[in-house]
Amino acid sequence: LSSQEEKLRRRIHNGVVEIWYYLKAELKKIKMMSTSEKVKEKVDQVLEDAGHQQRSIIVDIYNLSRVDNKTVWRANEAKSLSDLVQRRFHYLQNPKECSTAQKVVCNLNKGCGYGCQVHHVAYCMIVAYATQRTLVLQSRGWRYAPEGWEKFFLPLSETCLDRRGATTGRWGPTTDKLEKTQVIDLPIIDGINPRPDFLPLAIPEDLSERLMRLHGHPTVWWMGQVLKYILRPQPRLAKDLEMAGQRLGFKHPIVGVHVRRTDKVGTEASFHGIQEYMVHVEEYYLTLERTQPITERRVYLATDDATLLAEAKKVYPQYIFISDNAISQSAGLASRYTENALLGVITDIHFLALSDYLVCTFSSQVCRVAYEIMQTYHPDASAFFHSLDDVYYFGGQNEHRQAALYEHKPRGRDEIALGPGDTVGVAGNHWDGYSKGRNHRLRGRSSGLYPSYKVEEIVEVVRMPTYPQVPL
Ligand code: GDP
Repeated sequence: LSSQEEKLRRRIHNGVVEIWYYLKAELKKIKMMSTSEKVKEKVDQVLEDAGHQQRSIIVDIYNLSRVDNKTVWRANEAKSLSDLVQRRFHYLQNPKECSTAQKVVCNLNKGCGYGCQVHHVAYCMIVAYATQRTLVLQSRGWRYAPEGWEKFFLPLSETCLDRRGATTGRWGPTTDKLEKTQVIDLPIIDGINPRPDFLPLAIPEDLSERLMRLHGHPTVWWMGQVLKYILRPQPRLAKDLEMAGQRLGFKHPIVGVHVRRTDKVGTEASFHGIQEYMVHVEEYYLTLERTQPITERRVYLATDDATLLAEAKKVYPQYIFISDNAISQSAGLASRYTENALLGVITDIHFLALSDYLVCTFSSQVCRVAYEIMQTYHPDASAFFHSLDDVYYFGGQNEHRQAALYEHKPRGRDEIALGPGDTVGVAGNHWDGYSKGRNHRLRGRSSGLYPSYKVEEIVEVVRMPTYPQVPL
């Protein structure tokens, strides 16, 4: 399958999405500015018609992705890549001789929520992979479950859970010494110094070509594979999740909505009413309706706000909401770090990831973890989401970069100039046709807005071990 064709198709999809954000935002501004009822009416009509047109193009692009048996190719390629990476993790994590194996040690005592801790372990796993050292996870006394990680997830190794070794040290600037040290304790990602280039958003070089052809967001695919390995459930958890699915009546099609409130609002994120999420749920179903008849519009609602389910049901009686109120009760701040709450958040993430589309705020690690896991269920689910705030990021990542494709002359003081080939460090997408970032070429005022379609993502490709011992 032609790599260029796949990339172009995704670019066109992205372009259609971006121009729709742009039109919606600008037309709404015109509506606000006008005092004429006639103009307001006309704007609403244009929005409705343009919405229809946008969705019909999206459906055409989707159909294009399926002609000539490409679906079969994509499924095979996704499976082959995933199997390869999982076998590499298994090989790395199961050395023949644990007492002499090179190791990195990761402590689960990071003082944050489950999503944040999962990302902490994921970061450690990436360091392990990139340095070809077995990861030993220390999790006794875990704030969620004192017996540790293995109460819910399979141990990261069948042969090597012992952290001991002849020499021990902390990650530090003298790489020479580092290589000779058998056991290395890892700091949290924000504290790692020197900062290796293999940290997110990097992907392994030897897989990069295949990944960039298969997937619209190779970093998220890579993260999904890391989570697939570290989050292998214990049989008991697998059973609990299966039973929860039956009890809740989880069925496709379904949109996963995650609403993060309580302690997050006003500190790390803004408040968003349920309507803001449901606009995107509705758009999803309107598009889906063009490819299949829809009789029931289902939503899996995950939240830490125990009052939200009742509100959602009242305001949207035409939707079926699947949610567990007991889960959102235990997700509120007061009772958060118990085993019950842990099972609650694992369950919510599980069903968000299994949903066909996600609407949430990427400022929350809960939703980013769900989005990452979602990638393991499809060859390419990179476009199956809408975030009300941030673009995808990995906490503590190396800079997220884009390359400018077209020239941009700033229109006002809040915009920045772009020239083809400029590198931009991305701060965010405002989902209104504009993104914010810093142009590395500019001196002085280098941060500001630019049209999102004038840049493309830079995929950070970094040389990592190629595991020749693991057959292709
Ligand atoms: P973040 O703070 O949203 O970035 O994510 P963290 O996972 O680091 O911390 C938030 C914690 O709040 C989670 O780990 C859960 O314990 C709880 N929480 C937040 N949202 C939900 C939700 O939708 N469902 C459940 N069950 N728990 C949640």
